[in-house]
Amino acid sequence: MALRTLDSLGPLAGKTVGVRLDLNVPLDGETITDDGRIRAALPTLAALAEKGAKMVVWSHLGRPDGAPDPRYSVQPVAARLTELWPHNVVFVDHTSGAAITNATGILEPGDVLLAENLRFDPRETSKDPTERAAFAAELAASVDAFVSDGFGVVHRAQASVVELAEAVPSASGPLIAAELDVLTRLTADPARPYTVVLGGSKVSDKLGVIDALLPVVDRLVIGGGMVFTVLAAQGHQVGSSLLEADQIDTVKGYLADAKERGVELILPTDIVMAESFAADAPSVVLPIDSLETGPAGASALGLDIGPESAEAFRRVIAASATVFWNGPMGVFEFDAFSHGTRAVAQGLTEMRGLSVVGGGDSAAAVRRLGFADEQFGHISTGGGASLEFLEGKALPGLEAVGWP
Ligand code: ADP
Ligand code: MG
Repeated sequence: MALRTLDSLGPLAGKTVGVRLDLNVPLDGETITDDGRIRAALPTLAALAEKGAKMVVWSHLGRPDGAPDPRYSVQPVAARLTELWPHNVVFVDHTSGAAITNATGILEPGDVLLAENLRFDPRETSKDPTERAAFAAELAASVDAFVSDGFGVVHRAQASVVELAEAVPSASGPLIAAELDVLTRLTADPARPYTVVLGGSKVSDKLGVIDALLPVVDRLVIGGGMVFTVLAAQGHQVGSSLLEADQIDTVKGYLADAKERGVELILPTDIVMAESFAADAPSVVLPIDSLETGPAGASALGLDIGPESAEAFRRVIAASATVFWNGPMGVFEFDAFSHGTRAVAQGLTEMRGLSVVGGGDSAAAVRRLGFADEQFGHISTGGGASLEFLEGKALPGLEAVGWP
């Protein structure tokens, strides 16, 4: 088998094509704070418009509790899409059924109908495959064919990701193809030195990828909230910083494994220790062997890597030929603690070779810090999906469209 692409669906002129996208954008009230996922989906819509198709677009947004909740309506997405898409955009406040089918009647080729948040229906994420199949059949009833291009959800066994692809003629879209192309280059014979940079909040989320990448990478750079579990595993006191004490032994095992494989482990040498978790919290830069010596003592929290570490990380990254980066180096949402993340992003823009940013918060961070998408080789739209791909796991949403 091979990944099925749009051409496998045959002529689509005048047909109604369902499209699963990942338009799960960060919202502040009704304001979209990063529209990257909407912009990343435009080539998919353009490829289908080019073929003369009408489109019914489905996405999820946030984590509503399987019932309609206005805080998670995709209506703001429809408003932004209206600005970005040259054809008509119609929003329908239903996920499936006659309301959708009837509304497709007014669509012209190139027009987009955006249906309401899939997760307003509990069957979308049901653990029971029969419930998911029933929901998928309802979705399928409104369309002639289906294109799966929500890369951010391909690691999930959900109705619109798996069962819908099985219910009607289906294929993957150009976004999935582009993501797979880049991620495959990271696993098959990457140019060296190959550096992986990990940060973010939870070490337990990233253990799988550390395990899978240790045999492949030359250097592993770690920062962010997860680094405190690593520092604790090395015997350092970390004050009140994020710590997953139950992971310390596992991390010790990885440290030994890295050493044995000759992987260079690059950790921060200094940390910005803050008195509290707040944008304007007083802070001091301390070396990693004395993180509790500031005025707040053991109640201080590390919210960013220090300036010496930031500069060292930037240099190592800039001198690499392949870099995969997932997870911010600090609490970049607060300007005062965004410098480490900025230095890492800067390093990726300075290197020659393939630079890949993966992860929702990492992608949002580079845009928030004023970098342009074009300064990176690739910004993945899927954090969890890209990590699971690199871990070598089977992704149900890709299998449903023929991969591998
Ligand atoms: P991604 O979405 O890119 O995969 P994660 O979700 O793993 O990244 O982590 C992002 C979050 O990690 C951000 O909200 C950021 O504030 C948080 N973070 C980074 N460093 C720290 C830290 N030192 N302490 C607490 N949280 C942190
Ligand atoms: Mg995240």
